[in-house]
Amino acid sequence: VERVLVAEAAAGDRVRVGESIPPDTRLLLDRLGVTERFEADGHEPCLGSCSAWGDAELGYNDFLFNPHGHGWHLDRRRFDASLAAEAEAAGADVAAGWECKRVERGDGGFALRLEGEGSRTVRAAFVVDATGRVARVARALGARRVVDDRLTCVVAFLRGGSASRLTRLTMLEGVEDGWWYAARLPAEGVVVAVAGDPDVVKRAELHTEQGWLAALDETEHVRGELEGCRIEEMVVRTAPSFALDPAAGADWLAVGDAAAACDPIAAQGIHNALSDGLTAGHAIAARLKGDPGALDGYREAVAARYAAYRSVRDHLYAREQRWPDAPFWTRRRAPVTLRS
Ligand SMILES: Cc1cc2nc3c(=O)[nH]c(=O)nc-3n(C[C@H](O)[C@H](O)[C@H](O)COP(=O)(O)OP(=O)(O)OC[C@H]3O[C@@H](n4cnc5c(N)ncnc54)[C@H](O)[C@@H]3O)c2cc1C
Repeated sequence: VERVLVAEAAAGDRVRVGESIPPDTRLLLDRLGVTERFEADGHEPCLGSCSAWGDAELGYNDFLFNPHGHGWHLDRRRFDASLAAEAEAAGADVAAGWECKRVERGDGGFALRLEGEGSRTVRAAFVVDATGRVARVARALGARRVVDDRLTCVVAFLRGGSASRLTRLTMLEGVEDGWWYAARLPAEGVVVAVAGDPDVVKRAELHTEQGWLAALDETEHVRGELEGCRIEEMVVRTAPSFALDPAAGADWLAVGDAAAACDPIAAQGIHNALSDGLTAGHAIAARLKGDPGALDGYREAVAARYAAYRSVRDHLYAREQRWPDAPFWTRRRAPVTLRS
C-alpha cells in the first residue's frame, strides 16, 4: 500500500452523537493500540444502567461483575479526534472537512471526487465506506440498505443541575410513544435523547425546545434528574436499523453504521464500528496480497453481527409490554423491511 487517505466531511467541532460504550470495548482499544491516549482523554466512567423498562419502577443493572470493569460515557468529539490522530500517527493522511461527492470506477480502481476548501480527485485501488448510516460510497457503487426500522431521535446536550443518579449510570425510560435515555458526559455535561417514530416526532414537535420539554415533563424518572439543567444544543438524528447488501464488493467494503446500523437502544454502534475496522483491516491486507476470497469472511462477519443485534433488539422491545396497542411498540413487534 502506497498511501492511506482518510477523508472526513465533518470539521472537528460538529456535534457528534452516541457516547456510551460497554466494558469490553476496552479489548478493541487495546488491539488498536490506542488505550494510552484513550485513558488520557478523561472520558466519564459508566458503572451500568438504571431503567424503567417493562415496569414503572427503576431497575438497576451494573457492571460490577463484568470481567472488563466499567464502561464509559465518551466525550465523543475528543474520542473521534483521538482516533484520527492515532490514524495519522500510524501513517495515514487525514483530510478533515473533505466530503466525498462522487465515486467512479476507473482504470484499476476508483476516482473519488472530494470537496472541501476547493475540490480534488483522488485515485484509489481500494475504498472503505465509513460514512455512517448514509452509506454514501457503497450506495453509489450499487449496494442497497435493507432497512428494518426508521427510528428518529432528538438529542439535547445540557449543562448544570446536580444529575445525581446519572453520575455514573445511563438512565433509560420507556414511554407510550418511544423511550428516553440520559447520561452524564465529561466536564459536567448531560445528554438526553428521546427516540420515537418520525410521525410522532413531527406531530409532538419534539425537534423544538418547547415540544421536547413538554414531552420530557411526561416522563416519570428522566425529568427529575434534570432539574436546574439548561439546554445548550439540540439535534435531530435518524437512527435506522439496516444491513447493507452487499457489505463488500471486490475492491471496496463498508464498516460501522455504513455496513449495518443498530438502534441506539443496543448501545453497540461504536463498538461495532471499531470491531469492523479491525476485521476489515486484515481482510483488505489479504485482498491486496491477492487472496480473491478475502472479503467473503468479512461479509459473513457483518451479517452475523447484524443477526445478533436483531435478536438483542427483538428481545429488548418484547420486554416492554405496558402499551400493547401503542403504534410505537406494535411496529417494533412486527417490523416491515424495505430497501433503499
Ligand atoms: C441518538 C443516537 C444515540 C446513540 N447512542 C449510542 C451509544 O450510546 N453508544 C453507541 O455505541 N452507539 C450509539 N449510537 C450509534 C453510534 O452513534 C453509531 O453507531 C456510530 O457513531 C457509528 O460510527 P461510524 O463511524 O460508523 O459512523 P459515524 O459516527 O456516523 O461517522 C460517519 C462519518 O462519516 C463522515 N461522512 C459522511 N458522509 C461523508 C462523505 N460523503 N465523505 C466524507 N465523510 C463523510 C461524517 O462526517 C462522519 O464523521 C447512537 C446513535 C444515535 C442516532
